[in-house]
Amino acid sequence: MKLEIPQIIPHIDKKMHLSWQKELANVVTDPKILLEMLNIETKNYLQHFKARQLFPVRVPRPFIKKMQKGNINDPLLKQVMPLFSEFLITEGFIADPLGEHDTAVEGLLHKYKHRVLLIVKSGCAVNCRYCFRRHFPYADNSPNKIRWQQALDYIQQHEEITEVIFSGGDPLMASDEHLAWLVSQIENISHVKRLRLHTRLPVVIPQRITASLVKLLSKTRLKTTMVLHINHSNEIDKALSSSLELLREARIPLFNQSVLLKGINDQAQVLSQLSEKLFDNGIQPYYLHMFDQVQGAAHFDVPEKQAVKIAKEMMMILPGFLMPKLVREIAGEANKTPINLA
Ligand code: SF4
Repeated sequence: MKLEIPQIIPHIDKKMHLSWQKELANVVTDPKILLEMLNIETKNYLQHFKARQLFPVRVPRPFIKKMQKGNINDPLLKQVMPLFSEFLITEGFIADPLGEHDTAVEGLLHKYKHRVLLIVKSGCAVNCRYCFRRHFPYADNSPNKIRWQQALDYIQQHEEITEVIFSGGDPLMASDEHLAWLVSQIENISHVKRLRLHTRLPVVIPQRITASLVKLLSKTRLKTTMVLHINHSNEIDKALSSSLELLREARIPLFNQSVLLKGINDQAQVLSQLSEKLFDNGIQPYYLHMFDQVQGAAHFDVPEKQAVKIAKEMMMILPGFLMPKLVREIAGEANKTPINLA
């Protein structure tokens, strides 16, 4: 397979395209500035800022705009605010809770028989403090042309693979040109039928849904879906809603997965409100993940017994089709493990 990245892809919406990249270049990396933007007195939080040594702070400004001013307990702020407790070593919490650090081919994870996960880009627009990949050796898996080619060759050789999942980091960190090239290469592999994108980028920078991206995803022969990552209904604002409208109009199915996070969404009312708002925006609630026990983020963990109680309360509030599946990922397991609600 020849490796050729096209030099020119027509830009339908150059202005929007530049705009998301501008936002990306302008993310807030200093927690002091983040709190100042929210009119929160910083002097009480200085020791917490040290946790940025463990995992850098990155927060796009459109995401900050959705936070409530003056509220240190804002559920969006808590997802990105470094805390001193990240230095605590907690038994059972490890660097690689899902056993991902040894990859099949650099940049490609083959955990499930018929699906592979391709690390399209190593970084994210936002650094979520609870991220199970906060210790992932992205430097060793940093995508480049040679690695992409190796991954494509691997997919070509494994005829059992019917679905390719673009992941990262965040795959939408790649430019539309690079995505177009990758999609075209995967289209050439006849046994691949589906393409799935897992992304949080539009949630933190809604301008990322460009017309050229929508065109690319809707024109490919691959059945394409997008799985968003939204944890709280406050993350869905007008800007995100308008961006998603472009995908809805192109009939690209949208799903959502959330992580159950202590102090952020660990209440049935909060999660039910999220499911309702997702549905209002054409997004199907899909998974509610138990927190993956990654070292440095134990303060987000919700015990399973409590998670079951929350899920049962949600079932009393929501119609069945708005109820996300409560699941846990277990390293080495062939699929996600549903939590028994009985
Ligand atoms: S966007 Fe996803 S992969 Fe990136 S830091 Fe957040 S949780 Fe982790």
